[in-house]
Amino acid sequence: AGAAPLLKVRGLEAWYGESHVLHGIDFDVAPGEVVTLLGRNGAGKTTTLKSIMGVIGKRTGSAIFEGKETIALPSRAIARLGIGYVPEERGIYSSLSVEENLMLPPRIRDGGLGVEQIFQLFPNLKERLRSQGTKLSGGEQQMLAIGRILRTGAHFLLLDEPTEGLAPVIIDQIGATIRKLKQEGYTIILVEQNFRFAATVADRHYVVEQGKVIDMIPNAELDRNIDKLHSYLGV
Ligand code: ATP
Repeated sequence: AGAAPLLKVRGLEAWYGESHVLHGIDFDVAPGEVVTLLGRNGAGKTTTLKSIMGVIGKRTGSAIFEGKETIALPSRAIARLGIGYVPEERGIYSSLSVEENLMLPPRIRDGGLGVEQIFQLFPNLKERLRSQGTKLSGGEQQMLAIGRILRTGAHFLLLDEPTEGLAPVIIDQIGATIRKLKQEGYTIILVEQNFRFAATVADRHYVVEQGKVIDMIPNAELDRNIDKLHSYLGV
């Protein structure tokens, strides 16, 4: 039951050169959901996002987005469908200003946020409009990276460890932003190591281990599954 999935991934496999990293990933994301991919270092979470975005050498299986098979599409065609990827390394150009960084990716769909709307979501960025990318804190860089993707018109967001290396107060701000984006109808896959943070934003959690999804835990059932989760994550 429930709505048809916005994204349906089945039997997804991926390779870096000869190295076979994903071995049959299966999961669904419903419209308007926030789901996380949890798992240990090297489990294949980032590779799953890259495979959905089409930015990996070889991938097979199926990834159906809004009813359309994307597994053989080039990344720019996937972006045009409205999928946006914010990599862990954020990709902020240090020599460009905040404003220039925001304007850099083209608008590829209708519905992209205007600069004023982005500043409403991230008021600190407005104060830093003319600052260079290098002068930004890690949290500001993360907000700029998310804001930039919202401008393109993406409505399905792939966020890779947005809280990595950030102070707790900034992590709270990122969490508030993700909840706001969900309220506004965005659908989000979040890669996280920090399941305490994940629990504050997500509807469901998929556990990735050795290139497969081995479990799904609804957020409401996280507490009663905490021992299991600790053993999956090795914490
Ligand atoms: P992490 O939190 O460490 O990023 P992850 O779950 O996101 O963990 P991936 O980055 O997807 O894991 O990596 C999955 C596997 O692929 C690991 O064994 C990793 O060493 C390998 N890998 C990742 N990137 C490359 C690459 N560019 N070339 C070759 N192997 C890679």
